[in-house]
Amino acid sequence: MILDQNYETLPREELEQLQVERLQSTLYRVYRYVSFYKQSFDFNAVNIEKIKSIQDLAQLPFTTKEDLRKSYPYDMFAVPLRDILRIHSTSGTTGKPIIVGYTKNDLRHWTDCTARLLAAAGVTDHDVVQIAFPFNLFTGGFGFHQGAEQIGASVIPSSTSTAEKQIMIMRDFKTTVLICAPSYAVNIASTLEELQIHAESLNLRVGLFGAEPWSENLRAQLEAGLHIAALDNYGLTEVIGPGVAGECEHKQGMHVNEDHFIVEVIDPKTLDPLPLAQEGELVFTTITKEGFPLVRYRTGDISSLIEEPCACGRTLRRMHRVTGRTDDLIFIKGQKVFPSQIEEILLEVEGTAPHYRIILDRQEGNDTMEVQVEILESFPAFDELKNLERLRDTITRKIEVVLGVEAKVTLVEPRSLLRDSGAKARRVVDNRTL
Ligand SMILES: [Zn+2]
Repeated sequence: MILDQNYETLPREELEQLQVERLQSTLYRVYRYVSFYKQSFDFNAVNIEKIKSIQDLAQLPFTTKEDLRKSYPYDMFAVPLRDILRIHSTSGTTGKPIIVGYTKNDLRHWTDCTARLLAAAGVTDHDVVQIAFPFNLFTGGFGFHQGAEQIGASVIPSSTSTAEKQIMIMRDFKTTVLICAPSYAVNIASTLEELQIHAESLNLRVGLFGAEPWSENLRAQLEAGLHIAALDNYGLTEVIGPGVAGECEHKQGMHVNEDHFIVEVIDPKTLDPLPLAQEGELVFTTITKEGFPLVRYRTGDISSLIEEPCACGRTLRRMHRVTGRTDDLIFIKGQKVFPSQIEEILLEVEGTAPHYRIILDRQEGNDTMEVQVEILESFPAFDELKNLERLRDTITRKIEVVLGVEAKVTLVEPRSLLRDSGAKARRVVDNRTL
């Protein structure tokens, strides 16, 4: 269902006109109220009065994660703290966290954005929505909670606990919609299998998964394992949280809420804008945010855009699923490797869970890569050494064929890598001192 017939189906011309108007007012505001932008625009000799089209965006300097970290905690806020109603932050696993603030209008827009995603996934006021994202500084839990309430669904903020607990809630409360990270959904699906509960016996019908990149293979696995339609969505705390983009029932890319965010794709090396369909780094400019507006924010996420209109009737442009991150990209012995490629390989090998960890090291000047792989509890004859050896050889060979690099594969106990963490899984440990 299209929740906002007006904005989600605007003719492209009108949409771009709206974007330009909103962009201009955003630029005036940030120039006036955020010292970082005043300095950045002045330093780059940007005259904001000359920004009159979407193409003119390219004249504006970028905002980086590093810029946001330096502004810790409140220096990027464009309104006084008394106008901020909510504060969230990034996890800060790779450095100082980034603190974001929402005004009353920001919260309203954020709610509209996640509600659109839910409606696009077919969620209605008849649904029972279980949100298994952490409800804390992380934006996933609260972001979807607001949207699901707006739809009128019955919302269960189950947050993150053990998979067993989630399943108990799911069964007893008759959950129809599950919202969580894809790796957490895998965990729930494999626990169902262990408990010998058939997914068909539950009321689940839809899953909305996001907060980390996942693959088409994993979609098939989750749809079968949970007996649902699994839909992808995209968002990030810096830009707003969940609600930036999401799939409609056609599952052919995620519609970007372009009346709130302008999306660009750039070459991460030259920083030049790329043609829409070309893969590169996603860059977002927020055009309705008051508390924490961003101009040309480099996300580090690799994806591409789809220009063709979607069968659903929305005119909002779609983005492909995120294939990796510019900072996730592993260079090993000169080869480029995305962790998601390892996931794809594991999904094709029977007996392994798609839980893995990549450990990079350097021995006598040579890069080494170890891939730790969880075996499934149901793996036949778990104790039989021969079977395990065969499994390890298969994975080692596949990695070498597909990625062109040698890896040491270590099989680890079922469920030892990802215990019910709920948030993002840490896939890569780099011990190389570069
Ligand atoms: Zn669509």
